[in-house]
Amino acid sequence: MNERPTLDDIRRAPKVLLHDHLDGGLRPATIVDLARESGYQDLPTTDPGNLGAWFAEMSNSGSLERYLETFSHTVGVMQSVEALTRVAYECAEDLAKDGVVYAEVRYAPELHTSTGLTLEQVVEAVLEGFAKGGREHGIKVGTLVTAMRHQARSMEIAELAVRYRDAGVVGFDIAGAEAGYPPTRHLDAFEYLQRENAHFTIHAGEAFGLPSIWQAIQWCGADRLGHGVRIIDDITTAPDGKPTLGRLAAYVRDKRIPLEMCPTSNIQTGAAKSIAEHPIGLLRDLGFRVTVNTDNRLMSGTSPSLEFHKLVEAFDYGWDELQWFTVNAMKSAFVGFPERLELINGVIKPGFAQLKWRGERPVG
Ligand SMILES: [Zn+2]
Repeated sequence: MNERPTLDDIRRAPKVLLHDHLDGGLRPATIVDLARESGYQDLPTTDPGNLGAWFAEMSNSGSLERYLETFSHTVGVMQSVEALTRVAYECAEDLAKDGVVYAEVRYAPELHTSTGLTLEQVVEAVLEGFAKGGREHGIKVGTLVTAMRHQARSMEIAELAVRYRDAGVVGFDIAGAEAGYPPTRHLDAFEYLQRENAHFTIHAGEAFGLPSIWQAIQWCGADRLGHGVRIIDDITTAPDGKPTLGRLAAYVRDKRIPLEMCPTSNIQTGAAKSIAEHPIGLLRDLGFRVTVNTDNRLMSGTSPSLEFHKLVEAFDYGWDELQWFTVNAMKSAFVGFPERLELINGVIKPGFAQLKWRGERPVG
């Protein structure tokens, strides 16, 4: 029987995370410490408990402006080598404690140079924190470097991704406001990455619709879609419940293009109304390459286990579905094929088998 997994059991499952922002996952107490050490004066409160509550309140306000304002504080205290290394280290620790075995965490190096750090210093500081956290807590963390879509530094950041590819940077991404800043604005960076045999994902189809997804895939050549939730706009459901896929949706499904879905975040930014109404349910039923992610753990008060648990409650998923999401994510990771296979066969499948077996054990 496919029993309903509890949150505690989900925490024990070996999980994989592909879409998580470094500046969206700090511990409130760390923000307070770093603000004090760096002389950052703008925090709304220096009480860690109240600060955590403030982040949740701002993020749940329904206003994208207020949601984005929260990042000015996390980014504001991440402006030194020590701060970046600490935040990366703690990120690895927190994810490992939640049962994550492989994660790709992203951040925009250009946002961390306001006190004079070079892009290289930023990248090296983060890599050091992940390497140490990974060693000490038994998790592998790859980083994605992100370029801001409203800025003009994507080529420079893409070159950075390639330069550090053997040191732990596994890919590239663009993020920021979608409307008015289509991915094709950064075409030269994506073409460069393709010529360099490098991997990249693009935030597309979150707030903005199908044209953004189409450009990301057919013009820019994205390996994965950050969110991609609006692919649902290319699927029509007949009165009898039968879904029909448009050409773009069919292409995304046929090519097994991974969707980095972030259910809680989508509700906060208005891309979905509730977990139960989130397109992830239909997209999974239709066999899209769906993965489950956190986006911003601090702002959304979430973790990979909590996201899974919400889906279990909304869609009645059992271990089979959670394993399917996890294997999907590992298959879609930017780390090399042998490492992916090793984690799938050596860690993920045996880990889920153990949890499933416990659920099936006869009582008494
Ligand atoms: Zn994101």
